[in-house]
Amino acid sequence: MSAKPNYDPQAIEAARQESWEGRGDFAAPQLGDGGERVYVKPSSPFTSGNLHMGHVRDYSIGDSYARFRRGRGDSVLFGFGFDAFGLPAELAAIERQVPPAEWVEECGERMLGQMKRLGFSFDYDRIFYSSDERQYRWSQWLFITLLEHDLIYRADATVDWCDTCQTTLASIQVEDGRCWRCHNEVRLIRRPTWFLRITPYLEENDRNIELLEQSGRWDELSLATQRYILGRSDGVELDLGGDGRSLTAFTTHPRFAGLASFVLLSPRHPEVDAWATDPAAREELERMRSGGWDRSARDARSVPLVDTGNSIAGPGGEQLPVVVSPIVDARYGPTAALGIPAVDAADRDLAERLDRVEVPAAPEGEGEGPAPAPVESAGEATRYRANDFSISRQRAWGCPIPIVLCEECGPVPVPEEDLPVVLPRDLQPTGEGNPLAERPDFVDVECPKCGAGARRETDTLDCHFDALWLWVPAAVPPEDRDEQMFTHPELREWLPSERLVAGNDSGGFVFDQRVVTKALRDIGPFEFMGEGEPFAGCLFHEMVIADGRKMSKHLGNVVNPDELVAQHGADTVRMAVLYAAGPAKTLNWSDGAVRFASRFLRSLWIYSHDRLATFDGLAHDPEAAADTEHMRDRLRKWCENGLARITEDVEQLQVHKAIRNITRLFERIQDFEKRVAQRRGQLDRADAEAQLAALVLLARTLVPFVPHIAEELLVDLGVEDSAEALERWPEEAEIPVSPSPSPAP
Ligand SMILES: [Zn+2]
Ligand SMILES: [Zn+2]
Repeated sequence: MSAKPNYDPQAIEAARQESWEGRGDFAAPQLGDGGERVYVKPSSPFTSGNLHMGHVRDYSIGDSYARFRRGRGDSVLFGFGFDAFGLPAELAAIERQVPPAEWVEECGERMLGQMKRLGFSFDYDRIFYSSDERQYRWSQWLFITLLEHDLIYRADATVDWCDTCQTTLASIQVEDGRCWRCHNEVRLIRRPTWFLRITPYLEENDRNIELLEQSGRWDELSLATQRYILGRSDGVELDLGGDGRSLTAFTTHPRFAGLASFVLLSPRHPEVDAWATDPAAREELERMRSGGWDRSARDARSVPLVDTGNSIAGPGGEQLPVVVSPIVDARYGPTAALGIPAVDAADRDLAERLDRVEVPAAPEGEGEGPAPAPVESAGEATRYRANDFSISRQRAWGCPIPIVLCEECGPVPVPEEDLPVVLPRDLQPTGEGNPLAERPDFVDVECPKCGAGARRETDTLDCHFDALWLWVPAAVPPEDRDEQMFTHPELREWLPSERLVAGNDSGGFVFDQRVVTKALRDIGPFEFMGEGEPFAGCLFHEMVIADGRKMSKHLGNVVNPDELVAQHGADTVRMAVLYAAGPAKTLNWSDGAVRFASRFLRSLWIYSHDRLATFDGLAHDPEAAADTEHMRDRLRKWCENGLARITEDVEQLQVHKAIRNITRLFERIQDFEKRVAQRRGQLDRADAEAQLAALVLLARTLVPFVPHIAEELLVDLGVEDSAEALERWPEEAEIPVSPSPSPAP
């Protein structure tokens, strides 16, 4: 066996990647292959042109887990697609004056190259782009399906509008009330917008959080985001009125409901217009509705507040002023709530702004407060802050909404057989106007219902809508996606995904994906997913920062994964990212982690090859071997304990702990040799055999994290060079304690 003293990551990694690709190691197994089916779903990246360190973190965690499950004999699907529509790609295309489709393709290819260079074991044949018309045909199908089941509706919404550019603007395109492009002042307009109705599924999403928690496969961070987005409040509701008018109002202060001194209505409350009868109040309400209040609806001292001038009889018969404010939405959703300034700080702030409401004296000190005043007729109630949201945008780079607007028939869905409605491939947005609306070849169409001349909807779907089902396509073989995207037999095998691994800013996506899964279960295609949950497990990780701050070009602290890989190799970068912080912690990037990983891998490489090189020259002396048997036995125990710990760590995706335990095991293996040498001057062949077996075990546990060097080491240590032999996760530590019966001469 030849010694390979130098660790050359670039050469090793290129060679390993070539053999993975050549053998097709990461293709999702065929149906009928043995083992549990495990679909590991990483986040779907935007086609931004470059992997950033957050991606490296995300995919390094997901890849470790996917490789670990493969090593245990499970059938693993590790696949994803690009979230390729949306504003970032559109803005990049405007800047470069290329069609967004071209830009997206260029970015995707570049990012896939980076992923392969990092050794991520995706099934690359299953990669897809949400902006591919074979893909978005199904976004359009989903739109029509949800529309048919009343889960999509059209209503007016407020949007920013630039008169100069003749276009609506996304909120990130408005800076200090001015247009990002022309710097003129922006105004708010009302226009028809498509909404996704999620409210019918809020209660079930809420109930299921407990199930997800009990499964033990959802980490705390991901559960916390689901609770936060749901925004559940528990309290009581009571019916007010009695003088011909009525209103049901909610409060989270059941013991003090009798102390209410006003009623707060959401501007989206279904009865709000009946209360705002006074012309001045009506005008104010209109202003509030078109005032973009979503941005400042939390501070009770500045939030818009309109007194309707009307009142309603409270629980004790007293007249309670009815006021309107979006603060209700920010706290409890589009409902009515009791204002109880005696016990609620925000209500107190509001009361100070209302002429008709007396502000009660503030409680003197701790424990001092008003006497309880519960209302007997009140019943327990729950409110959710989560609410329907808009899914259409006036943007060029998005999935066309499959709707024809007919003067006679109104909005008419495009028949399924006419899908996809194709976005013109040469569309070139400029930032001015709506380029789709200016394309007669796109706009002018016959009404599918009455045949009269009509116009296509020129709004497109927000990329959040594409994301509602981005976890589905990887589970369907590419050649069957045209026909069977939502009906393919493999869906039943892979879904729900065993684990989603994503950044903790994905909570909103996940919440809405959970809603849509339930809708598709009730509608039919996903009836096999009884609980309506797309992810059986979920791991959210925090972001990667540098120098204690978010990475940004402006701060000049952006860490470039390509440079790191070129300098240190993919394994070192992967290990550094995994080791530097547990998934739930923000990773503050430092060169220290890279130095640590680099040192560890290099020393493991050199150490193992040195031991291999000297092994052949070692003699076996039964007496010497007997004298160190207890030491080999101790090494075996260390290996057993280490393996048990590492296995448990990876099962729970606590990859930083797994790596820490691997580095400790390496220290033990070195320690074993030192102690034997201290006792006897040198190793017996039996000791060296045990030590090499321990190094094989160590390399096996490293395969999921640093697959290139680990596999190369295994091959050098005598393991067969095949996927089955190299990927196998060790069930037990096979460390020979008694000398081999017939040592090699
Ligand atoms: Zn403008
Ligand atoms: Zn018509």
